[in-house]
Amino acid sequence: MGATTKHFIGGEWRTGEGSTMTDLNPSTGKPLAEFPVGTAEEVDAAVRAARDAFDNGWRDATPSSRRKLLLKLADLIASNATEIGKVASEDMGMPWAFTIGEAMFAAEYIEYYAGWADKIHGDTIPLSAPNTLDYTLREPIGVAAAIVPWNSPLSLAIWKMAPALACGNAIVVKPSELAPLAVLRLMDLVAEAGFPPGVVNCVSGDGALTGSALVEHPGVGVIAFTGGTATGRKVAERAGAQLKRVSLELGGKSANIVFADADIDAAAVQAGVGCFINTGQQCIAGSRVLVEESIHDTFLEKVIAFASNWATGDPLQPTTQMGPLINEASLERVLAFVDDARGGAEIALGGERLGGDLADGYFVAPTIVAGVRNDMRIAREEIFGPVLSIIPFRDEAEAIAIANDTEYGLAGGVWTNDLHRAHRVARQIQAGTVWVNTWLAVNPQTPFGGYKASGIGREGGKEALDVYTQIKNVYVQLR
Ligand code: NAD
Repeated sequence: MGATTKHFIGGEWRTGEGSTMTDLNPSTGKPLAEFPVGTAEEVDAAVRAARDAFDNGWRDATPSSRRKLLLKLADLIASNATEIGKVASEDMGMPWAFTIGEAMFAAEYIEYYAGWADKIHGDTIPLSAPNTLDYTLREPIGVAAAIVPWNSPLSLAIWKMAPALACGNAIVVKPSELAPLAVLRLMDLVAEAGFPPGVVNCVSGDGALTGSALVEHPGVGVIAFTGGTATGRKVAERAGAQLKRVSLELGGKSANIVFADADIDAAAVQAGVGCFINTGQQCIAGSRVLVEESIHDTFLEKVIAFASNWATGDPLQPTTQMGPLINEASLERVLAFVDDARGGAEIALGGERLGGDLADGYFVAPTIVAGVRNDMRIAREEIFGPVLSIIPFRDEAEAIAIANDTEYGLAGGVWTNDLHRAHRVARQIQAGTVWVNTWLAVNPQTPFGGYKASGIGREGGKEALDVYTQIKNVYVQLR
């Protein structure tokens, strides 16, 4: 087993003083490291370090100095992408080739927000009152808390850190207890980039102790949370009691609608990739594929053919496209969803745990369930596994009704060659992101977030700057 990791507080690595947890490699079920569960005192030390750094220099750092530090961090992440990608891959099971891509993508995010660092400003407002000058200042909040899940740990930490730092906030990051290592490794690069001590801190731990302490801490001004909807509700309730600002990126049950006039080959491939990538452990997984009845059988055949060749195995092998689920509990949960569907729907592919060389890890086969009705459990709850449900529909109105018949609203897709239909349907899908003739496209420049139970606020784009700034109006009476 690897060594016990430490917290990163005030620019120093500190040994944890509370209990520890064991971090497992989901491909082998074997321990990778012990990590400390941050106590309320350690969270307090991190928030105080952040506040000190904010009050004593970071708040007043020039925008160009913030930009340069962010660009340096982006360079370091890009040049260490192979190594940090391996850390993430071993820790949470996404294929290494993809975690390298994720690191490069995280670097691009930072570059994008580095570009904003010296473009965040207020307005001058002409008033009707005589002899007045009125202007606004856009100021940082102070200390931001970033609570991060395990499924894309590096990018989801950066989606919060980059805009928060560009706006002039200090930050405390809490990685997931299921995969903390890539975010901890990132702290070495933060230090190397030269951020002043305390501007970025990281306390590892679970939700019940460490996450809660961070949410409750009166020194935290804004909480940026990504995780499950049930946890998000708890975080929002407790933040609400203290009138703290929150940004919540939560779960999804996204519908990908394939019309008969679409490029069916491309739609079948993207439907497969959109659901099976990262072993279906994506908030934006296209887990409900709605297919027009007239092409249903052809489409099903094509998506089965695609999924049958989706290479599942050791994430460190360059040819692997899908690794394991995160842990035993997740594996059991995914298989229970499939079992539950057996009564009313048809398991057209997969549906079982993989054995042989993979028996020690938490591997399942890519799974396709056909003949699903939208009222079945498999179509209503977020599975967070490689299970694609095919739901037939008769016409456009029915497709839209099924797509929107969910508590979630994270993403949606439309496959059609009819320009009018593409825009008509895109407008009617109740989701924060709609893709036309593609799936999974996410860019630093664009806002990302949920309608309904999929979240509040946006990450990405200029919209994320609203989360990390507050507006002050200055009214000056001139003589
Ligand atoms: P989770 O809700 O179990 O945990 C997320 C984080 O919250 C972890 O760091 C955890 O320790 C912490 N946490 C747990 N309880 C807490 C509490 N009471 N107070 C404060 N923090 C607490 O989610 P997960 O299993 O790590 O991630 C999977 C979920 O995340 C899925 O539902 C997925 O859809 C969602 N997700 C959403 C997005 C998005 O952008 N919308 C992106 C990725 C993942």
